[in-house]
Amino acid sequence: MTDFLEKIKKHAAEQPDAVFYESVDSEGGSKNLTWGELRSKAVKLASWMDANLKTETPVVIYGHKDPYMIVCFIASLLSGRGYCPVDISVPGDRVKGIIGNLNPELILCAGEEYESENSLSYEKILEITSGEGEISEDKSISGSDVCYIIYTSGSTGTPKGVQITGDCLDNFIHWGMTLGSGIADGENPVFLNQAPFSFDLSVMDLYLSLYSGGKLHVLPKKIQGDMKMLMESLKESGANIWVSTPSFAEVCLSDESFNKELLPEMKRFLFCGETLPVSVVRKLHERFPGAEVVNTYGPTESTVAVTDILCTPEVCDKYDPLPVGKIKPGSELRIRGEQRESLPEGESGEIIILGDSVSIGYRNLPEQTAKAFFEEDGIRGYRTGDKGYLKDGYLFYQGRIDLQIKLHGYRIELEDVENNLMKLSGVERAAVIPIEKEGKIVSLTAFIIPDRMPESSFKAGQALRAEAKSFLPEYMIPKKFVFLEELPMTNNGKADRRALLAYLKK
Ligand code: AMP
Repeated sequence: MTDFLEKIKKHAAEQPDAVFYESVDSEGGSKNLTWGELRSKAVKLASWMDANLKTETPVVIYGHKDPYMIVCFIASLLSGRGYCPVDISVPGDRVKGIIGNLNPELILCAGEEYESENSLSYEKILEITSGEGEISEDKSISGSDVCYIIYTSGSTGTPKGVQITGDCLDNFIHWGMTLGSGIADGENPVFLNQAPFSFDLSVMDLYLSLYSGGKLHVLPKKIQGDMKMLMESLKESGANIWVSTPSFAEVCLSDESFNKELLPEMKRFLFCGETLPVSVVRKLHERFPGAEVVNTYGPTESTVAVTDILCTPEVCDKYDPLPVGKIKPGSELRIRGEQRESLPEGESGEIIILGDSVSIGYRNLPEQTAKAFFEEDGIRGYRTGDKGYLKDGYLFYQGRIDLQIKLHGYRIELEDVENNLMKLSGVERAAVIPIEKEGKIVSLTAFIIPDRMPESSFKAGQALRAEAKSFLPEYMIPKKFVFLEELPMTNNGKADRRALLAYLKK
């Protein structure tokens, strides 16, 4: 059994009536789950899985921030199976792609239905988890087993499933507990959850709250889209540890009431996933005097994050842009040049992560795994595709060396968007470029070579946007569509993105 599963068992035994999971929906209804319920329901579902499933293939868990998603996660692990969380915002065609790659024996519908012959309905899950059942501890996943698989944007247009083992997760959690001034034994913090469970940022709040015996206050998508409800939910949360992308904190900061009065207990902001602007840190220092702000960095492939820095006012005075921090114990950073040579401190190159939280590779994608992952002296390594350099013992992030971007905290491969746009009616070719404002990516523009030029670009763009919803999540759909007779090309035959950007500025 992994260390975190032991901890969950211990907390459930010691504080069965304490609330673990708390969420308010847009109708004002609340969804709660106590520690005792979490453990006992997970055990019953695990027992059912043990008795009814023939294989140990990872289980897909479909839903949106329902407390039963967590019950299903833990049940899968207790029954010796990894799990793959899929949020309802993932379009049908993409879910099919994930299911095609994973070939799961079971799809658990945790609060939302997914029609498939392998699905277990929500109703059935409720029935099983309120019945009887026991599971032997020997059945649980061990450290070297796959614990979860999170799918990220892949340049071919098909998402890649990053496989994280129990050991990777334990190693991440042990370090995560020390971020800022750390979480003391018996502290029972209240974490805030912003990211859907199909994004690895959510692993930070979910597993740190599970490990520390705390509480998770979950913000569903509808609440996040309504500033008034969002501020109300935050006020009620009593949260003291914040986990989000910097973009989400910026949205909250645009509301004047987002301050210490709203969240009097707040003592730590943990950020990951995209550049943390100095201006955001300064505003947080102003609005939440005494609270710590921690910047962390890492890809899904190395279990959420591997570097951290406490962004004090002194750090903000000294560095702009901020460093992403120092490497965690058990991991190592290297900066490599174009010939894969190691570069000295101060020189900029590709960031390589080695160590005990690096994934064992992409699920059923040997070629893509071989391209991105390697092993050196028995230690797993990952080529991030990020550009950066080391200075003063800190890692500094300088963007990507390929076509992956971050938009509002979401990881997107531009080629993923392009390949999916090319599936739409009348689209012969597509090229997508990110649009920046004040150094930050704010939207995507698609250049389309249609089989026939439309009479109204506006209407044609609307139609493509609507059709794209079957293939791409909302955040990957370009805001603007431009129709061209032909695409400008570079010498090596690729879409010339610089020329396309220049075209927009004409
Ligand atoms: P994801 O796998 O969605 O977590 O995305 C990982 C990518 O997000 C990294 O490879 C970086 O390009 C970017 N990223 C993560 N953390 C940071 C950070 N603190 N600052 C800047 N970029 C970041």
